[in-house]
Amino acid sequence: MTEQFGTIIGSMQRFAERAYNSGIQTGNGGNLSVRVPGTQTMLIKAKGGSFADLQEANIVHTDFDGKVLTGSSEPSREFRTHALIYRMCPNAGAVFHSHSPWSIACAGRLERVPLVSMHMEMKLGGIPVMVSNGHADARMADELAGFLTANPGVKAFIQRRHGIFSMSGDIGDAEMQAELVEECAKIALLELMSEGRH
Ligand SMILES: [Zn+2]
Repeated sequence: MTEQFGTIIGSMQRFAERAYNSGIQTGNGGNLSVRVPGTQTMLIKAKGGSFADLQEANIVHTDFDGKVLTGSSEPSREFRTHALIYRMCPNAGAVFHSHSPWSIACAGRLERVPLVSMHMEMKLGGIPVMVSNGHADARMADELAGFLTANPGVKAFIQRRHGIFSMSGDIGDAEMQAELVEECAKIALLELMSEGRH
């Protein structure tokens, strides 16, 4: 393993664990990836396994068609989504994805998550909701291409009935941005629930 890969994998492990501990992803769901700079390849979590204990063996190096270049596991079934984001968003250096409860609840009833604080407005710019019945498949990728074209510069979005996708320059920023999306969705729902009760 090169020093570059070692550094990237270390940060993927650190922020996967942080996501698990923060509660934005429990169990075995969720995935994350980092673009290998200057290439059409990425390091991505393999199928299965939890964010709680992400091992080096559970991270694979693939091209944007999901072909494994280094590693002995299969990439996450969500590799198409990650690859499409890298192809369409040149500034995306990392993609973080989680099945976060407040975000899923909020996206079930809203087209966009309201930005409930000035801080969130400044940091996120907007949290659009993507509606697709595709689940980590070619249909989802096709519909995502249209969604990204319609929402240029989007930093994070929620797929209805699925979860958060957050992209940024590095995996630490992408994960913390997803935490902010979940916090925003939680407050937005609490505000909606409290409406009419005072
Ligand atoms: Zn997912």
